[in-house]
Amino acid sequence: MSNQKPKLALYWASSCGGCEIAVLGLHEKILDVAAAFEIVFWPCVMDFKYADVEAMEDGEIDVCFFNGAIRNDENAHLAHLLRQKSKVLVAFGSCAYGGSMPGLANFYTRDDVLRWVYFDSPSTDNPDGVLPQKRVDVPEGELRLPGFWDTVRTLAQVVPVDYFLPGCPPEASSIEAAVNAIVSGELPPPGSVIGVDVTVCDECPREKHEKKIKRFYRPQEIIPDPNTCLLEQGLFCAGIATRAGCGAKCPQVGFGCRGCYGPNEGVLDHGARILSGIASVLDANTEEEVEAILDTLPDPAGYFYRFHLPGSLLRRRGRVSGKRQPVGEAAVHEPA
Ligand code: SF4
Repeated sequence: MSNQKPKLALYWASSCGGCEIAVLGLHEKILDVAAAFEIVFWPCVMDFKYADVEAMEDGEIDVCFFNGAIRNDENAHLAHLLRQKSKVLVAFGSCAYGGSMPGLANFYTRDDVLRWVYFDSPSTDNPDGVLPQKRVDVPEGELRLPGFWDTVRTLAQVVPVDYFLPGCPPEASSIEAAVNAIVSGELPPPGSVIGVDVTVCDECPREKHEKKIKRFYRPQEIIPDPNTCLLEQGLFCAGIATRAGCGAKCPQVGFGCRGCYGPNEGVLDHGARILSGIASVLDANTEEEVEAILDTLPDPAGYFYRFHLPGSLLRRRGRVSGKRQPVGEAAVHEPA
């Protein structure tokens, strides 16, 4: 490589913005990033245009940190564009890696989402039943919206990805480790998750004993013992099946791990692994007892697949055809 600094791009697709804040959460170490890289695209922070990226040579960007799931035509366009222009594409954060919160929409259909947002939600005031359109003519010209997909996808389900950096958002230490690996050229084999290969339980300092759960509690229902494993006390914790790297921050403050770092190495389906782990600690002898315990765990699918539904073997809920009518000519599009 020449004396020029490597070029870095950061992009935000369907996500909450926490990943962008996490980069700024490097605090003074952000200066090291600025010293090591020439930032050529970061629309959240600086005024770059898509045309700036389109004008670049293919492979001109050395590293792109792409956060967010892919749930509309614009997300997909930028995923393809940045893949084309980047030597190394990193799926940054849980949404790009596994689909995460936006991916929970895969428990519903596009029509379910539009119907709720534009017609049925208690705060909606839409007497004319207006839905977002892909094209609208206004006196100033034509306004366009990206098509809204039925199925949320991970970044790797749309374009080839070189590395995955999980977390919601990735911890500053994880980002720092990734940046150092890139700068030093000591990256793991392509396709790897950049991180550690143990579970949150392995990092968690809480005392572990044999687990036998008679019922689950919501966090507001009990004050847990400060030293004992939360799962043993009936508080849901996905640390048994989740990749470490966060320092077990949530369990340490009395809140069960929700699984944001995704499955640990070798696990194909995070939700199935959590389900299997939870099933193994239920103190039940009959089907009725199992059901009674699970009745105390609200929204089990949401608990098990919170961060990895699009990236799971399940990917989405099956469609029930003919049950409801489509909501109309909204700005929708589904890729082949
Ligand atoms: Fe594992 Fe959670 Fe128990 Fe900690 S609290 S030991 S992360 S199950």
